[in-house]
Amino acid sequence: MARYREALCRLCRREGQKLFLKGDRCYTDKCAFERRKYPPGQHGTSRVKISDYGLQLREKQKVKRIYGVLEKQFRRYFKEAQKKKGVTGELLLQFLERRLDSVVFRAGFAVNIRQARQLVNHGHIKVNGRKVNIPSFRVREGDVIELKEESRKIPFIEENLSKVEHRGVPEWLELDAENFRAKVLSLPTREQIPLDVKEHLIVELYSK
Ligand code: SF4
Repeated sequence: MARYREALCRLCRREGQKLFLKGDRCYTDKCAFERRKYPPGQHGTSRVKISDYGLQLREKQKVKRIYGVLEKQFRRYFKEAQKKKGVTGELLLQFLERRLDSVVFRAGFAVNIRQARQLVNHGHIKVNGRKVNIPSFRVREGDVIELKEESRKIPFIEENLSKVEHRGVPEWLELDAENFRAKVLSLPTREQIPLDVKEHLIVELYSK
């Protein structure tokens, strides 16, 4: 599976915003963005006026990086959102949020989406009682996501779940930490997706 290989903290610095790609470290003063709030590279500290196109592009890159999705797949989500009735930008974010790797992260089984993707890829996750190892699998209302019995002993899982209180589980998910299970109560609304992004800029970019 294709994935980003660039140092993760560079991505936050490039986007001028914390993207919370690493987990615990993101909440400490070791966060690279907290220490160097300017883009990486030789010209990182020089002031550059960004064009409208540049702003739209950065917003798109930001969302792609948060969810770890590459261009082709991202564009497919956009096209699907465009065809559906509703606000395209919001539907786009909803599709991304409903990816199984994202749900595993939001439920607290993993500290970031990358770790969640690994759990899914390695077959540790079941949806409605059946193993699903496809990170892009889209959850539906009523779906039950759980950790396989044998996988509950993975050392970092309990630790992750104990920390989830601090981060909080979104209202559209119900976590049953004791049984390593989460239920999709409803589909996420824009207000329930904790992303500081202007999705209308992505719509403008792709609508040219
Ligand atoms: Fe981004 Fe800071 Fe987390 Fe690095 S530690 S991924 S800079 S939020």
